[in-house]
Amino acid sequence: MSHMTYNAHEYIGAIHIHSHYSDGTGSVEEIARAASELGLDYIILTDHNTLRAKDEGAEKFYDGTLLIVGYEINDKKNQNHYLALRVDKTLPTRLNASEYVQKIAEAGGFGFIAHPHEKRDSMKEHPPYPWTAWDCPNITGIEIWNHMSEWMENLTEQNKYEAFLHPLRTIESPAAETLQKWDELSLSHRVVGIGGVDAHAHKVNVMGIFEVEVFPYKVLFKSIRTHILTDLKFVITDKPEDIFQARSILLNSLESGNCFVANDYLYNSYGFRFYARVDTKFYSMGCSLPLQNGIRFFVEVPAGSITIKLIRNGKITAVSEQRSYVFECTEAGVYRIEVYYMNKPWIFSNHIHIEE
Ligand SMILES: [Zn+2]
Ligand SMILES: [Zn+2]
Repeated sequence: MSHMTYNAHEYIGAIHIHSHYSDGTGSVEEIARAASELGLDYIILTDHNTLRAKDEGAEKFYDGTLLIVGYEINDKKNQNHYLALRVDKTLPTRLNASEYVQKIAEAGGFGFIAHPHEKRDSMKEHPPYPWTAWDCPNITGIEIWNHMSEWMENLTEQNKYEAFLHPLRTIESPAAETLQKWDELSLSHRVVGIGGVDAHAHKVNVMGIFEVEVFPYKVLFKSIRTHILTDLKFVITDKPEDIFQARSILLNSLESGNCFVANDYLYNSYGFRFYARVDTKFYSMGCSLPLQNGIRFFVEVPAGSITIKLIRNGKITAVSEQRSYVFECTEAGVYRIEVYYMNKPWIFSNHIHIEE
C-alpha cells in the first residue's frame, strides 16, 4: 500500500528510442538535442542488446532533458522484445523470455513488453515482432501504445503519401487487444502501462518509390509521451550524484505506475490527474488500497470537449463529459481512466487497485 501527495511533480518524456548504437540513425547527442528543443524532461534510450551509451557516460542532462539508458532484449528467434530498465549489464540473447524477465528483476531492474501485438506487414524489411510468451510470470510492464507499430499498421496504398508527410496524423489509438490484455494481467498483479515511440529515424524505401527518413526523432517526440508523477523534485545539474538521484526518482515512479500515457500531439495533456482519496489521504495511479468506506475517485482533465471513461476490470463502468469528475467507489477492482478529446483517444491512465 502506498499513498502520495496530490501536489505531485509531473515529468514528461519519451520512452523506447534507438540510436546508431543499434538500428537507429541518430547519435545520442542528436537525439538528446531533439528532445531538449521540445522541452521534454526525460527520454529513455533502449538500443537493441547494448548499453553502450550508458558505458560511455551518456546518462546525464542535455539542456534540461535527462537521458536514461536501458536496452531492448529479444530471444534467439528475435521475438519477445522487452525493454529492460535500471540495469547495468546486458543479458545474452540465447535466453528465453521467461528467463530474461526473471533475471532483469533479480538484478534490481524492471521492464516492459515492447509492441505486444505488433501486426505490421506493409514493409518486408520490418516484419512484426509480437510478444508470444504470455505465460511468463513477473511481467512488470507493457507498452500499451507504440507509435511505430501503429503507424506501419495504418499504412495503406491510399494514405502512404499523407502518412509519410504527416507521421503524427495517422496515430489514432492503442490496440484494443493490448488494452484488454493489460486489464486482464492487472487483475492478478500490478502491470504498468507506458507509451513507446520506437524511434529509429529509419531510412526506408517506400514500396519501391522513394526513400525517406521515417521519421525524424523530433517529430516523433511530439506525440506518444509518458507523463511521470512524483512526490520529489529533482535538480538539473552536472553532478553525478544529482544525476543518479534524478534517474532514481523517475525510474522508481515509473516502476510504481505513477504515470499516464497520452498523445500530446492531439492536445497537451499536462495537468491530467486521476487519484483516489480517503479523508486526507491521496492515492495516485499505480497505488493500491483496501476497499473501505468513503473512497472517492477524482479525475481532472486539462481541456474541454472531452469524454472520460472509467474502466473497472476491463469494462466501462462510468462515463462523463465534465473536466472535473468525482466518482464514489464501492467495489473492489482494478480501475483506470481513458480520456477522449473531440472523440479521439487521448489519455490512458495507469490502474488504481482497490483490494478486497
Ligand atoms: Zn522491438
Ligand atoms: Zn524498438
